[in-house]
Amino acid sequence: MSLYPSGASRRHFSAHGMTVSYPLDSFTFQHPSPITELPNPANRASARAHPALNLKSHQSAWYSSRAQHVRIRTAAAAEPYAARTHIHTLSTKAAKSFGRLCGHHYCTNAVSLGHAAVRHAGTSAMCTADADHPTPLPGMAEVLDQYGWMLETPLEELMSCATALRDDNRHGAIVSFSPKVFIPITRLCRDMCGYCTFAQPPRPGRRAFMTLGEVLQIAAQGASAGCSEALLTLGDKPEDRWPEAASELMEMGFGSTLEYVEAVAKAILQETGLLPHINAGIMSELELRKLKKVSASQGLMLESTSLELMHPGGAHHNCPDKDPASRLRTIEAAGRAAVPYTSGILVGIGDTRSDRLHALACLHRLNERYGHIQELIIQNFRRKPATAMAAWPEPPFDELLWAVAVARIMFGPHMNIQAPPNLTPLESADGGGSGAFSLDALPAAWQALLKAGINDWGGISPITRDFVNPEKPWPHLSSLAAATAAAGKLLLPRLPVYPSFLGLRGGPSRPNCHPARPEEAAAADREALATRAPGTPLAGTPAEVAAAGTPLELLSCPWLDFSGGRDSVGAAVLRSIDSEGFLRASAWVAGRPDVDEQQGQIQGQRERTQHSDPSSISVSNVSPLPPPPPAASPCLPAAAASMTMATPIAAAEATTQTAETGTIAAAALKLTVPRESVPMPRWREGRVWRVAVCVDGAMEGMQRPADPSPRVTRLLEGVLSGGRLLQRDEVELLLRSRGADHDAVCAAADELRRRTCGDTVSYVVNRNINYTNVCTYKCVFCAFSKGRTSEELRGPSYVVPYEEIARRTAEAWDRGATEVCMQGGIHPDFTGDTYLRIVSAAKAAAPAVHVHAFSPLEVHHGATSLGLIYERYLERLALAGLGSLPGTAAEVLHDNVRSVLCPDKIDTATWLKVVGAAHRVGLRTTSTLMFGSIEEGPAAWASHLVLLRELQQQAEAIGGHGGGVGITEFVPLPFVHMESPVYIKGQARRGPSLHEVVLLHAVARLALHPHVTNIQASWVKAGPSRAAQLLAAGCNDMGGSIMNESITRAAGASYGQELPPLQMEEIIRAAGRQPRQRTTLYGTPPAEQTARSNGAMPLQPLVLAAATTGALR
Ligand code: SF4
Repeated sequence: MSLYPSGASRRHFSAHGMTVSYPLDSFTFQHPSPITELPNPANRASARAHPALNLKSHQSAWYSSRAQHVRIRTAAAAEPYAARTHIHTLSTKAAKSFGRLCGHHYCTNAVSLGHAAVRHAGTSAMCTADADHPTPLPGMAEVLDQYGWMLETPLEELMSCATALRDDNRHGAIVSFSPKVFIPITRLCRDMCGYCTFAQPPRPGRRAFMTLGEVLQIAAQGASAGCSEALLTLGDKPEDRWPEAASELMEMGFGSTLEYVEAVAKAILQETGLLPHINAGIMSELELRKLKKVSASQGLMLESTSLELMHPGGAHHNCPDKDPASRLRTIEAAGRAAVPYTSGILVGIGDTRSDRLHALACLHRLNERYGHIQELIIQNFRRKPATAMAAWPEPPFDELLWAVAVARIMFGPHMNIQAPPNLTPLESADGGGSGAFSLDALPAAWQALLKAGINDWGGISPITRDFVNPEKPWPHLSSLAAATAAAGKLLLPRLPVYPSFLGLRGGPSRPNCHPARPEEAAAADREALATRAPGTPLAGTPAEVAAAGTPLELLSCPWLDFSGGRDSVGAAVLRSIDSEGFLRASAWVAGRPDVDEQQGQIQGQRERTQHSDPSSISVSNVSPLPPPPPAASPCLPAAAASMTMATPIAAAEATTQTAETGTIAAAALKLTVPRESVPMPRWREGRVWRVAVCVDGAMEGMQRPADPSPRVTRLLEGVLSGGRLLQRDEVELLLRSRGADHDAVCAAADELRRRTCGDTVSYVVNRNINYTNVCTYKCVFCAFSKGRTSEELRGPSYVVPYEEIARRTAEAWDRGATEVCMQGGIHPDFTGDTYLRIVSAAKAAAPAVHVHAFSPLEVHHGATSLGLIYERYLERLALAGLGSLPGTAAEVLHDNVRSVLCPDKIDTATWLKVVGAAHRVGLRTTSTLMFGSIEEGPAAWASHLVLLRELQQQAEAIGGHGGGVGITEFVPLPFVHMESPVYIKGQARRGPSLHEVVLLHAVARLALHPHVTNIQASWVKAGPSRAAQLLAAGCNDMGGSIMNESITRAAGASYGQELPPLQMEEIIRAAGRQPRQRTTLYGTPPAEQTARSNGAMPLQPLVLAAATTGALR
């Protein structure tokens, strides 16, 4: 009996440009489908019929007992799992992936991922995280019953399957690594593993622990090279075995090694901005929770669950902390503490393939319950001289490949799986590890590991060696990038915590977004959400809301600790990431003038000490940094600090010497550190690689795939040749483009711009009038608004009197402007009549001026206050002289994002309704997207773009196509972070990266075509020179010359105070394009106005009134 449909003998996976196929017929395997958490785990028929999974309905499978094994074939029907989406209500996209898995991977994944989905839906008792009820872990018989088929499946088939799984996920074409420094806090350990050279006994004259000065010196060097991770590695509880360790801890003022580690991690975080990843061995839940406050992630290798290894002669003999049960308890405790956790297995230390399956299955079971395992390290044993296992044979490379492939298949597409590249075995000609090897074989070996399903190379350091394997140097990053590129992948730096643990908003839920949480916390979340319905203003003053930070803290990522505000590890992570959760690694930020690389380094160092900001570092010529002054650290007891600097005088001398010489104050360190702890890194001139991400989203100076991916190419061809409308997921795909894909997207956008708009670049001469900064709304990003009488933060609150509005309008007209753009806060005293009078005041002063005013929020406020529907109120505004509306207040049109970013503002549907109403009454609008603030990203941006396109299609349906209706232009607005409250509180990114800014403009051109034809580069946000660069990525407009700007400058931007027409045209010509002055609606301004604009006199001083006077009433 065969349930394969005819003609469906192969399954094809196509994702991110990779198409992989494998023969279904070849998968004959042993599989018991032991759904242990489901009723009657021994009864597979019951499991298949379980209502949560509905396997009986959706999965055709047949079972036939054969001893302990079951042979199963899954049907590859066209839609074998379509109906299963009901169990994946939070993750439709994930459900599709799971469905594929279910169909082709033996329903092991169907069961486990099904459980995950049930857990996320909150319908299963698996949500509970109870230390008194540890997770039942599988026995060997159960593991073999479930996964034993992999013991017999040919390696090539396993690898093919693993590759397809890895590529059928968002890993896509990216292979990551973590640029790090390795900090061996102590090399004392109470264990005696037979393969280990890291653990060392105490030695006379050598300190047991690294001093804070040593730690910070290494961390500072790593920071200057652009690293993101400080890997703290240490032996297990050395004080339990070595009196020297206990006494030294006591001398420093610490009761345990873990206390010292906590203090050191805090110092690293606060003084260098590097993100600690802590491998501190066996720990309790309380200890894990404490370290979570000072680390981005933690880890513990399970290594193996084989008890044989604990016996005399085994690798783990005399190693109390290698007891598998103890380690699994720690890993489970990390799950309860919601710590992003790294674990893995060690291959070839006397374990069998079955042992490896069992160890992985135990980790899998824990991860099913807690979702906390962020990566699996599959590490191969390398023998070392002078160890008990010096003569032990290293495992053949195939064993490593097998372990990687089965891990990928067992854990599915989302898991991050790494194999350390410096440990890659190089097979000798005889295949027996004879010692003969060729470095030439390394790239091929790395590519084999990629084919086995890894998506990460782990931590690699430009500064420090691998202290656990000091004889194995890190690979040259360029070599690794080249091998990765040869496999069609792009090497990209990441943080120690993986992107999927950052709770990025805007897209579907992912398996790792929601750790199991106590019921009361979940209830609090639900209540908070329920009380923050869009459109319902929050109680409290802006300062109170800013101080409480409730909305963000309740909703932000629970995997990271944000309790320290801007000094928290969560804040440091947000400052370091790009929109996809990878390392930002770029000095550029919106609103700030470009700096050269050296200045970027200096700026980054300044921010690093002020705001623990590691992501500013991007250096071209990395040089060693002076050690920070540890004595000033607030993180250590005085005794510990004094261990690093003998006296204040010595510290001062060291600092002085460093400042004068610009070199490492080695002499000072010798003075103050009497005994050496570890070999300090030596700077190797010219051999240090840098961590910097270029404008194309790929690593600077590293090889990348030469050609764009087939899928991106197809999409671009579809738009260019046939005018095909991009779907939301396609827009999102383009917004994730990097390297060759990025270049292709920009080139296509530029070509489309040329065909649609020619080589002319337009701009309008205008003046901004922000008539009040008083606002009752609580947009967390807004640095402009304040309460009516508030004078805190950025100056006093104000209103602009009608007479001053008139004066400024008249002055603008006299200086050649054709437009006044008027927006402000939502003043509690303003009504719809106020806005009508504002328009009238402007029109009375300059009847021919175009009044471009009032965001959809202001229209909503005005209409509501007068009890009018939007259309009637808009008609009254138009009668008063309103010419068009700015499409601001849109921020990101995605209610998940808005619920955090602007919780009391109008929701997406209301914004669309107001703008649609404006189009229906004949008023045209612009459209905007403010991006790069909180952890929203490409999914939300794609959704926003498609909504705008649909809005414009509706306008065209009413008013006819031809450019005379609806939206005039789209204006991407990069978030300016410097003075934004949400950034200052440590709950926002540093705005979009330059790569994201360029890409978003280009994708907007493609996604909005042919309905919105003008794409504007905002020189106020991007700066004049970068705005010119955007002209090559699909833009055809430079916006307004803006005689006054307040809102962006309130956020800390350096730009905004008028770019005179002649200067604007100079920039445009320098970009190889032709400037054209335009009106608001893209007409030609009167010649006399153009002449005036070219010879305008300086502006007169502004007149403001205190907000308390009610001057506009
Ligand atoms: S963005 Fe606008 S509505 Fe929001 S607080 Fe600022 S001024 Fe008020």
